[in-house]
Amino acid sequence: MFENVVRPEIRALKPYVPGRSIDEIREEYGLENVVKMASNENPLGVSNLVREALGRHADTVFRYPAGGNPRLVRALAEHWNTDPARIVVGNGSDEIIDMLVRMLAVAGHDNVVCFRPCFSLYPIQSLIQGVEIRRQPVNADFSFDFDKLLTLVDENTRLVFVTTPDNPSGFCPRPDEVRNLAQRLPQNCLLVIDEAYMDFAPAQDESEADWSLFKRGDLPDNACVIRTFSKSYGLAGLRIGVGILPAELASYYWRARLPFSVNILAEEAVLAALEDEGFRELTLKTVREGREVLHRGLAELSCTVLPSRANFLMFMPPSSCSAATLYKKLLERGIIVRALASYELPDYIRVSIGNAEENRLFLRATAEILAGGDR
Ligand SMILES: *Cc1c(COP(=O)(O)O)cnc(C)c1O
Repeated sequence: MFENVVRPEIRALKPYVPGRSIDEIREEYGLENVVKMASNENPLGVSNLVREALGRHADTVFRYPAGGNPRLVRALAEHWNTDPARIVVGNGSDEIIDMLVRMLAVAGHDNVVCFRPCFSLYPIQSLIQGVEIRRQPVNADFSFDFDKLLTLVDENTRLVFVTTPDNPSGFCPRPDEVRNLAQRLPQNCLLVIDEAYMDFAPAQDESEADWSLFKRGDLPDNACVIRTFSKSYGLAGLRIGVGILPAELASYYWRARLPFSVNILAEEAVLAALEDEGFRELTLKTVREGREVLHRGLAELSCTVLPSRANFLMFMPPSSCSAATLYKKLLERGIIVRALASYELPDYIRVSIGNAEENRLFLRATAEILAGGDR
């Protein structure tokens, strides 16, 4: 009955295929132990301070959150040493990405520019809004050619999305180059720098300021940064993202967003997570060390591994085993990784860095599968 009246942009969407869950795979393969290394979640789970805060505030959930999440905004501004008027929060950074497209791009007139492959939400939310999406393929080594990206930009380009470090490859462009890109864009075109994985970028002896324009305090006026509590802070299920926007845009954001999209427990969880320096330090250490172990291990198994500054690695198995086969055989052994067909990279797999035990199980299973010695 509604077939003909649903908006054409919506009818054109393919059904979303979510990652497989631990419970699903347990049931389907009759396995007891299943390891999930598919969604770049925190390998240490939940911080104790967050767990306590959630328990302590359970009694408050009959209340509405405060409009505009003022406590949260103040705490984030203090933590990141930035002007609270520039901070917005959303139901995951997903909401912020969606809102920016809706706030700036006019259907049938404006366009949005990003790389191919990239995080799927940039093109999908643009398509839903009826906004043209223009995509520049990344280089063969998955680095970015900003000169080529700029050739897609015209006076109707309202947003350009850049992910740094990138998902799914882990490539991290130099901050100077990102700054240069912003400066070469028209002043009324917003450069959205998605730093979902930036915490993982610095090596042991580096700081975030070596890789992040935002941390360097060096954001051009037509650029904004998006951060998330889903990855390094381990709060993916509570859905909190943060944007640092030009103050003018932040003010429009608060007028346009759904009033209570960041809930009371999410707010308390972030406040507690910001206090838990120990958990964060251990997370970063675990990911840095695990990333090296997995990189070395996969390379020893003749896989082609992309250098990554994020909490995942992208790799191609040796020619004796297709990515699809390896993905399926890992599933049969209770190890969930990410096949990248939906990123148009059918030859690659993305594996999230796990804890030491998960990394060991993954490498052992991969070695057995590639040796052909499995069932
Ligand atoms: C995981 C991820 C996010 C975070 O999404 P949330 O909605 O905050 O969970 C944002 N951008 C990229 C590129 C990601 O991979």
